[in-house]
Amino acid sequence: MFMTKIDYFKEDSVSRILDKKFIPFKEIPIENIPQLAFSNEYTILPSIISNDNEVQRKLFKHGLELKLERTYSARGTINSKKTKDLIIESLDSFNGLPWCYSFKPYWGMDRKTRRIHLIDCVNGARLYAYGSSNEKIKILPYTNSERVEKEGGQIYLEVPSTTKEEGPHKFEFSFVPIVNNENKKIISLQLSSDHNCGYKRFLDLKFNYPNSRQSSKTNDFCFHEIAGYLAIIDYFYQKGIKAPLETNPFVIPTLLTKGFNIALENNVLILDKNSKHGVRKPKIADKEILNWQFLKLLGVEQTFFPTKTRDGNIRDYAWK
Ligand SMILES: [Zn+2]
Repeated sequence: MFMTKIDYFKEDSVSRILDKKFIPFKEIPIENIPQLAFSNEYTILPSIISNDNEVQRKLFKHGLELKLERTYSARGTINSKKTKDLIIESLDSFNGLPWCYSFKPYWGMDRKTRRIHLIDCVNGARLYAYGSSNEKIKILPYTNSERVEKEGGQIYLEVPSTTKEEGPHKFEFSFVPIVNNENKKIISLQLSSDHNCGYKRFLDLKFNYPNSRQSSKTNDFCFHEIAGYLAIIDYFYQKGIKAPLETNPFVIPTLLTKGFNIALENNVLILDKNSKHGVRKPKIADKEILNWQFLKLLGVEQTFFPTKTRDGNIRDYAWK
């Protein structure tokens, strides 16, 4: 079925972009791409990844994974660095270009590696801004049980779809730390939800590699889940509870990174001799790797850790 994007999430088409004023790429280094956002100019990037959907998918699914430092015991987890510091440390000093970063629980029934893609953090922040401005994200926490201290809260969510045809995504997060005790980091390693969507199925696609196992060993969080988690942070923060923020595994785009991604949608094309105009729109894997390049150039604190004074509230980012 053909899905129509809600206006807030629409991108300019190739022909619409080609109507803008062309600026050669060598005059716009990658760190200056955010300046193109909301302008009437565009540039063309050399091709990095094949246009082929299967190649894009395989790289997204099987590309290099940046592992946050793992812990293997309760004591080790309690004594480990703050979640934010763990992420900053890893994302500020990596070799090569990863396609995601990850954490993994040492305990519990579901020990799948949790993977996070930068583009989903960007799109999650955008969906969160959209949902907050329209009060379209609903939250219902089940937090009264005594188990909350050890297992965190279960939180029911409704997160809007980005397409006109679909109703809201309804799902439940488990293992959300909502008590400020020493268990919070241990609990947060188990973070998971029962959400499913077309995009998550795309992320979970398995390929017939000779050594592949039957079931996927990873759980890639999608942007609906990330938008939902940002709303959870906000909901509890307003009640003076900071545990969901302190254990938040998702990075959040700064204003600069928001501009970078808006430009990727409306002011950037990629050389592709097989396409109609010799150019094409950046696809999901292109955007992921471009975000990693951007992060590597400018550092994680400039690109994926907003501050109130520099960036304001992520709810108020103008995406349109
Ligand atoms: Zn989803």
